[in-house]
Amino acid sequence: MKIDLRTIYRFQPINYSGALPAGGDVYYECECGDIVSSVSFVKAACKCGNLAGGDGSVTVHSSEKVKPLRGKLR
Ligand SMILES: [Zn+2]
Repeated sequence: MKIDLRTIYRFQPINYSGALPAGGDVYYECECGDIVSSVSFVKAACKCGNLAGGDGSVTVHSSEKVKPLRGKLR
């Protein structure tokens, strides 16, 4: 089942330097257009395979393709 998180959350870019931020309200937008929670407990992956989440964390293969976003419930 695929949920478009944009219908649930309002996303704003996060300014950061160094390592990607992570947290309960932090999401990663991949350059392929998919958004994955930074602390995903369900198996989640973006369609290009750059992000692979599950068990509370996300493996990021190329962080330069990822934009961290803060999600607020609409
Ligand atoms: Zn992707």
